[in-house]
Amino acid sequence: MLAGSLAGRMMDFPLTLTHLLERARTLFGRTEIVSRNPDRSLHRHTFADFHRRSSQLAGALARLGVRPGDRVASLSWNHYRHLELYFGVPCSGAVLHTLNLRLHPTEIAYIAQHAEDRVVFVDRSLLPLFNQIVEHVRSFEHVIVIDDGTAHALPGGSLDYETLLARESTRFDFPDLDERSAAMVCYTSGTTGNPKGVVLSHRSTVLHTLVQCMTDTAAISENDTVLPVVPMFHANAWGLPYSSICVGSKLVFPGPHLDPTSLLDLMATEKVTVAGGVPTIWLGILALLDQEPKKWDLSAMRTMLIGGSAAPASMIDGFQKRHGLGVIHAWGMTEMNPLGTLARVKRDLRGADDETQLGLRASQGYPVPFVEQRHADEEDKILPWDGETMGELQVRGPFVASSYYGGEGPDRFTADGWFKTGDVVTIDAEGYLRITDRSKDVIKSGGEWISSVALENALMSHPSVLEAAVFAARDEKWSERPLAAIVLKEGKSATGAELGAHLEGRFAKFWLPDDYVFMKQIPRTSTGKFLKTKLRELHGDHLEKKKAAR
Ligand code: ADP
Repeated sequence: MLAGSLAGRMMDFPLTLTHLLERARTLFGRTEIVSRNPDRSLHRHTFADFHRRSSQLAGALARLGVRPGDRVASLSWNHYRHLELYFGVPCSGAVLHTLNLRLHPTEIAYIAQHAEDRVVFVDRSLLPLFNQIVEHVRSFEHVIVIDDGTAHALPGGSLDYETLLARESTRFDFPDLDERSAAMVCYTSGTTGNPKGVVLSHRSTVLHTLVQCMTDTAAISENDTVLPVVPMFHANAWGLPYSSICVGSKLVFPGPHLDPTSLLDLMATEKVTVAGGVPTIWLGILALLDQEPKKWDLSAMRTMLIGGSAAPASMIDGFQKRHGLGVIHAWGMTEMNPLGTLARVKRDLRGADDETQLGLRASQGYPVPFVEQRHADEEDKILPWDGETMGELQVRGPFVASSYYGGEGPDRFTADGWFKTGDVVTIDAEGYLRITDRSKDVIKSGGEWISSVALENALMSHPSVLEAAVFAARDEKWSERPLAAIVLKEGKSATGAELGAHLEGRFAKFWLPDDYVFMKQIPRTSTGKFLKTKLRELHGDHLEKKKAAR
């Protein structure tokens, strides 16, 4: 009994993925799922097929002896069979562990062993990678190959996905699950130390799904055709597959073909209305659209969700002004299921001038329901929402991690129950969040923080600049000074002096980069973020060397 209050008399109905899976069959059986195969052909089937096959998968797992809570890994691109794993595994009571195929094989092996994955599903096209990890993972008991039409030799003792499914009944008696039980394990990519496992529960995933579908967030609806470009092995494809199944939107999966032309072809032919991906993907798409503005009919497109790293304002503006395409910038983390904030302009701010509004749309936005935010300084003092004071962002809510798998990284959680994101931010009086850096990448010059993200954003608005990453170079006097790595657009030129002039007047003088290094490409992490550790390794001594040469 609840002491001193009247107990609500509503059902304690569990928030599990099984409910979403059943909706797919009972309400949206005819809705289509389209996947691009490695040979570029398209596979089409329906939610009814998806439900049948997910049930068969659950039957196959039971036959293999997979028990509740066992970890089942996937090493797969985005396609319909990965979607079956997204539901068949958790709804059977096991836990899906999506392995990031962009990591180094030793890292993948470490993660699989760390999570003690018993079963692994692998795309046949990824067997060359898989062969480099399998012998290092002692916990693997069963290897199941998803035959995607490629010809790589099968590992000895492996099982075939379709053969396993074909043996099973198309109806499975899914168990009643505790909503707090684990549904998935996703590892963060380890750019901040060893990769850490985030254990998503059924409840957190269902709540995230409901929040993601809201009109004022991503507004995923039955009317939509959703293309998750963001990999299903990274932060559960931002939850887009779960939202689409929940509301009955058509799903389109790109398979391994993530180049701009393949994606634009899919968007046009399947009449995609919502697509989500990291800025690099969208930069490539924008460049191609600028070259051939009339080639693709994107009139169906309603929202392009961009997140994972900062979307430059010039890109958001370019899509809107030159191609009439609406971008929504969002921020999140694997530790948050992953959506945290989303940049929509509030009603009474829509009267502001274009530049102010673009500034809001290029911010990381304000929190979605049930995410609470605050920021703190190095002494844990909570900072004001004044749009200026920088501090580390902390969040809490029902789809925020409360600890990591194995209890690692306890220092990321505060004594009063908040998660320390590792992002350095400002928050303004309206609650809009602006990421200025990741804490491990901050540039501290003479004791003052300089926002690399703000500088990058401004540099990328220069007509000759394709990409810009600003990072800390060692400096005798100031300890660190900003240095900018620049990738120029094809056929364009700019000097460091010109870029410096472009920034002047927009920032305090001491923020301006001391120098510019021109590169063919900027090193990136497995999840598409600028790899600033590498930049520091390559060019951290640039200023010292330059001084010595004088
Ligand atoms: P990983 O560290 O494995 O790449 P995540 O994808 O969970 O894992 O990364 C989360 C981090 O990505 C955030 O803490 C933040 O630094 C960065 N990030 C995500 N979205 C944005 C965004 N819209 N703008 C700037 N940074 C972002």
